[in-house]
Amino acid sequence: MSKKHQDNKKRLEAISSFAKSIGRRARITCEWCESKEDLQVWDYRPDMPPNMDTLAMLCRNCRELAEGKKASPGELRSIRNALWSNIPAVAVGAGEILVKCNEPWVRGAIVQSFMDDSIKTQLLDKIRM
Ligand SMILES: [Zn+2]
Repeated sequence: MSKKHQDNKKRLEAISSFAKSIGRRARITCEWCESKEDLQVWDYRPDMPPNMDTLAMLCRNCRELAEGKKASPGELRSIRNALWSNIPAVAVGAGEILVKCNEPWVRGAIVQSFMDDSIKTQLLDKIRM
């Protein structure tokens, strides 16, 4: 087994050790859009040790958005409430999807959210003007 494969296996084991707690926190709904379809724990920061702040319970569609699928305006609106979460994987993760799109309400929604100002600034800088 290669080192990389082993590291990946360890990481998946670490993530699955959080799955129950994340599921309880999410109340078995997607933490971005509240769908109940095909929920799985999503790893927001693969570069960091997994913890409750870097993992979110997402439905299949939101995981596809997280992986770069282009979102429709309706999908973007469905994840808007996630910005008000106090969990970084939920709020900032969703914010990163929203800033890639040109929806006019995104800027205001990020400004009004509870994210740290430094994170808001980083996100707002990514909005194409
Ligand atoms: Zn979802």
